[in-house]
Amino acid sequence: MIGSLTQNTHLYISPETPNSVSGLKSKDQECFTLLQKSKNMKEFMQVHAKIIKLGFTHDSQRAGDAMAMCALSHWGSMDYACSIFHQIEEPNTFIFNTMIRGHVGENEPGKAFSLYVQMLLEEVLPNGYTFPFVIKACAQLSALEKGHQLHGMAIKFGFGFDTCVMNTLISMYAKCGDISSAKLVFDSIPQKNPVSWSAMISGYTKCGLWDQCLSTFSLMQSEGWRPDESTLVSVLSSCAHLSALDLGRCTHASLLRKFSNFNVVAETSLIEMYVKCGCIDRGMTVFERMLNNKNMISYGVMISGLAAHGYGKKALELLSELMSEGWEPDDAIYVGVLRACSHAGLVKEGHRLFEKTISELRIQPTIQLYGCMVDLLGRSGSLKEAYELVRNMPIKPNEVIWRTLLSACKVHHNIEIGEIASEKLIELDSFTAGDYMLASNIYARGRRWGNVERLRTEMADNGLVQSLGHSSIEVERKVHRFVSQDRAHPQSNEIYEMIHQIAWQLRFEGYSLDTSEVLTYVSEEEKRDLVLGHSQKLAITFGLISTAPGSILRISRNLRMCSDCHATTRLISKIFRREIIVRERNRFHHFKGGECSCGDYW
Ligand code: ZN
Ligand code: ZN
Repeated sequence: MIGSLTQNTHLYISPETPNSVSGLKSKDQECFTLLQKSKNMKEFMQVHAKIIKLGFTHDSQRAGDAMAMCALSHWGSMDYACSIFHQIEEPNTFIFNTMIRGHVGENEPGKAFSLYVQMLLEEVLPNGYTFPFVIKACAQLSALEKGHQLHGMAIKFGFGFDTCVMNTLISMYAKCGDISSAKLVFDSIPQKNPVSWSAMISGYTKCGLWDQCLSTFSLMQSEGWRPDESTLVSVLSSCAHLSALDLGRCTHASLLRKFSNFNVVAETSLIEMYVKCGCIDRGMTVFERMLNNKNMISYGVMISGLAAHGYGKKALELLSELMSEGWEPDDAIYVGVLRACSHAGLVKEGHRLFEKTISELRIQPTIQLYGCMVDLLGRSGSLKEAYELVRNMPIKPNEVIWRTLLSACKVHHNIEIGEIASEKLIELDSFTAGDYMLASNIYARGRRWGNVERLRTEMADNGLVQSLGHSSIEVERKVHRFVSQDRAHPQSNEIYEMIHQIAWQLRFEGYSLDTSEVLTYVSEEEKRDLVLGHSQKLAITFGLISTAPGSILRISRNLRMCSDCHATTRLISKIFRREIIVRERNRFHHFKGGECSCGDYW
């Protein structure tokens, strides 16, 4: 030991003076203790300069420790760590690991990866701490092929069945979109720990596999593991996508039980879950309780929630709140607020905001912002103005813009502009089955049956099929899904019996079924039967017969509802005194007392 020390320090102290060696040793220790106490880069560099001056850096152990401090402290500097690293003559595994970890922490996966290559070239053996970080670098790079190679190497070096390595492999595969490889690794872990479960659950969420996320979560709980905050966040986002409010509420309760303070990610996921499950008020409460914890993402989630629910005024309020707090809203925020104005029919306010973003704020409006404006004008019936805006846009209008215009033409029965929009969609080669239906509806309303027939033939010739509409409702934590004319539900007989009673009551209210959107050539009687069997009506009816009187019905559907479903749902909310909330892709209708929050404007 003494030998190596004298060897390292021979420049300063002659080996013939052993007393000085111990003196030097204590000096060395003193300097190092001082280095460990550094609170920032400035202090660190001052002490380190002194150490270099005294020549202690020749000790690769000490140099490695100093480098680690610099690479891994929150105040550290990777550049400085690199400069120490380059002076170390024969860096060992620990030193390489530290540098790789530091680069991954700084989100510099390329540098981390080249260090790993250098390590192999210098024949320094990787160990169980090396792989998790290099694999993480692969995830940051979304480099699936490299990931597969590393997986192979981990096995070759004997770390392929190390739980920590396998956990990072799951995350890496999920990040690269290869969820089946992630699942293979997960299944082969001999002893799964909470991190393994968390990696698999958030992996499913990353890949948009909401059902699998929830089933893995329940498996995790049944095996007695307690989820951490990030797992609960993944579960919340799956609940949001599946409109699974009951499970979402339970997850909120678990968060409350386990953590006195949630982080901003958990709070924002809670808002998203409530908003997407139709509980805008609960979402707002969580948002307001965040006080000073809000960031741009939480504002963005809240504003797009308000837009989906048609709360235009509140969205405008949040925009001013956000700006008064000194935040600079990004394009996504403006899109959210403008969409809220559009859904709430706040044409003037929306107009003003759009002008402001262009003139005062000098924001180069994106195509999404133009889309919102076209929607706003189209909904309010200013179709000519909307068309002019599209024609004069500085960006080439895409299919979304033309489709927005086409749906506005359907609402306001404008054949002329509808035809232009259809032609543009055909030119762009993106005239879908849904667009055919929209165009057919416009012609049917105008009684142009020849055109309806032509479109129908074209649609058949192009092999286009309208995607099947479905509506679902959650009753006692089970999601029931219905398609149009569905008879597969075990309570089907009861449901149809009830639907006919409802139809009778509707007639009593003076309402006759609106069959204008039925484009099949059948008798009026048959058309009425078809309309009565629409999936939304089946789901609502099932809700009416299987839930307590007065409870809220929450329906979620994949396609836009027809005008008859909208009108009958309004009346059902009045006749049966039920609040009915229908989620239609990215917007909500709140039916209550015979009125809808959209003001029949959607
Ligand atoms: Zn319908
Ligand atoms: Zn509505």
